[in-house]
Amino acid sequence: MRVLLLGGTAEARQLAARLADAGIPAVSSLAGRVRNPRLPVGEVRIGGFGGADGLAAYLRDGGFDAVLDATHPFAAAITRNAAQACGMLGVPLIAVRRPAWSAQPGDDWIPATDIAAAAALVRDWPGRTVFLTTGRRDLAVFAGDVRHRYIVRAVDPPEGPVPADMTLILDRGPYDLAGETAILIEHGAGLLVTKNSGGGLTAAKLAAARSLGLPVIMVARPPLPAGVVAEADVDAALRRLLDAADQGADEASASDG
Ligand code: NAP
Repeated sequence: MRVLLLGGTAEARQLAARLADAGIPAVSSLAGRVRNPRLPVGEVRIGGFGGADGLAAYLRDGGFDAVLDATHPFAAAITRNAAQACGMLGVPLIAVRRPAWSAQPGDDWIPATDIAAAAALVRDWPGRTVFLTTGRRDLAVFAGDVRHRYIVRAVDPPEGPVPADMTLILDRGPYDLAGETAILIEHGAGLLVTKNSGGGLTAAKLAAARSLGLPVIMVARPPLPAGVVAEADVDAALRRLLDAADQGADEASASDG
């Protein structure tokens, strides 16, 4: 079996290592958004495919038997394309999505359906300084807000429109409670804005906000495309991949015999 692994996450790098250990041929695919990406082990390709049709052609031409979608929970377009392309070709698609964060006692979360809704909530917030961790590519919707001071953390510098009053922190995590608390205190932030990415690598900011009694605007995940069922972790995704491979082998031997 040959696997295309859609990546850009820690889970994808873990999967690449596990596939290599198991001797399963795989190609990891990255979008090419980050200047110096953390590369997975094994073969890597970088850049878009050209939509669902382009991805389907890539899968067909490369002789791939399965797709593992370990992209970020907010990377909705590539997951939609993968669902379409795999549907067209009858190739199994196995998605892995770390569970979303959920509010704990002491949290003061304000739900936002998407980034635009989060920006509208910030505009109405009476405080001054906002810690914004939604990523450099989602900055444009905050750019027109001249009333607030934004502390923006991103992996690479933003390229499009940004808020007029912005302090940029370039970092890629993982982060810890002491560091996150220090950022909030040092910059006098009264509000945290985050996507509900889930997972442990970037969760410390939530504990920091809780301990300081700060509100958090929590942007909800986009829904998975109809018919895509995600596994919660790398082990479960690998089990499903191996089940799909066994099923494929059974079907091939049934049609041979
Ligand atoms: P997106 O909106 O779902 O995708 C936009 C386009 O980028 C896709 O249509 C596809 O182009 C290309 N693309 C995305 N992921 C790709 C991949 N793994 N391999 C090849 N092409 C890919 O995705 P995004 O939100 O821009 O995220 C881009 C990448 O960064 C993803 O791989 C994701 O795992 C990672 N990431 C995203 C976030 C986030 O907050 N969105 C956070 C951390 C990491 P074509 O249509 O031309 O194929």
